[in-house]
Amino acid sequence: ASKSDGCNAYRFYEPNMDEHAHKRFVLENSLRKALEGNEFLLHYQPKVDISSGDITAFEALLRWNHPDLGLLSPAEFIPLAEETGLIIPIGEWVIRHVCAQNVVWQKEGLSNLRIAINLSGYQLQQQNFLEFVEESLTDTGLDPECLEFEITETVIMQNPDFTISMLNKLRDLGIHISIDDFGTGYSSLSHLKRFSVNTLKIDKTFVSEVESSATDAAIATAIIAMGSSLNLRVIAEGVETKGQLEFLKEKLCDEMQGYYFSRPMPPEKVTEFMRGKQIR
Ligand code: C2E
Ligand code: CA
Ligand code: CA
Ligand code: CA
Repeated sequence: ASKSDGCNAYRFYEPNMDEHAHKRFVLENSLRKALEGNEFLLHYQPKVDISSGDITAFEALLRWNHPDLGLLSPAEFIPLAEETGLIIPIGEWVIRHVCAQNVVWQKEGLSNLRIAINLSGYQLQQQNFLEFVEESLTDTGLDPECLEFEITETVIMQNPDFTISMLNKLRDLGIHISIDDFGTGYSSLSHLKRFSVNTLKIDKTFVSEVESSATDAAIATAIIAMGSSLNLRVIAEGVETKGQLEFLKEKLCDEMQGYYFSRPMPPEKVTEFMRGKQIR
C-alpha cells in the first residue's frame, strides 16, 4: 500500500512497487535532471539519394547517456518525456543543438548540409513553437533550408487543421517537412494536398518485408508511385539489405536510409564520414 494509515500521506517509493513502476519512478526523477546534467546527445544517420549516391541530409536521433543505466534509446524515454511535459525543454534542446552543430560543421567546410529533427506532437502545439524555431535560426545564423522536421502522419491527423497551418508556416520559412512513418497511420490524402510537404518517408516495417511480403511490397510501391505523382520525394527508412535496396531502386524510390548504408553515428564521426563525399 502506498498510503500510510489515516493521514493521506503518500510515500513515493515502496519496495514492493512492481518492477515497471519502479523503473518509471527512477527514470522520471533522473529525466528531470538530464538536461542540466548535459546527458543528452544526438547521433546522426545519413539519407542517401539512390540514383546518385549523394548524401542529401542527416537525421538527428536522440540518445540519453543515463548515469546508471548507460545509453538509452528514445523508445525508452520519449513516451515518459511526453507524459511529463519534459518533451518541451528536451525538444527545444534538440532544435538548438542541431542548429548550432550544423553551423559548426559548415565552418568546417560541410556546406549546405541539411539536418532533420523528429518532432513530437506536443511541441507543435506549443504557442511559441514557431517563434522558438525562428529564434534558433536567427541566433545561430543557420539557413532554414538546412533544417528539416519529420512529423508522423498520426500527429498530423490528431489535429489536422492546426498542424497543417503550423507546418505551412514552417514551410514558408524555408524549412523542409517530411511525413515520418508514412503508411502506418491513417492520413487522409485530402490533407496531404493542403500543405506543401517535401517528402514522404516509408516506414521501416514495410521496407523490412518488401522481399518477403507481397502486401508490404505493394504498399511500398504504392507510396512511391503516389509520391511521384504528387511531386513529392519519397525516402525509405530501415534499409538493411542489398535486396531491399534493389527493390527500391527498381521502383524508382528517391532516397534511402538504413544500416545497409550507415548506422546512426556520433557527431565526431560525421565530418570524417563526409570527407570526400559529395553534398548537394
Ligand atoms: P524514427 O523517426 O522512425 O527513426 C528510425 C529509427 O530506426 C531510429 O531508431 C533509427 O536508429 C532506426 N534505424 C535506422 N536505420 C535502421 C535499420 O536499417 N534497421 C533498423 N532496424 N532500425 C534502423 P531510434 O534512434 O531508436 O529512434 C526511435 C524513434 O524515436 C524515432 O523513430 C523517432 O520517432 C524517435 N526520436 C528519435 N529522436 C527523437 C527526438 O529528438 N525527438 C523526438 N520527439 N523523437 C525522437
Ligand atoms: Ca524520423
Ligand atoms: Ca519509422
Ligand atoms: Ca517515428
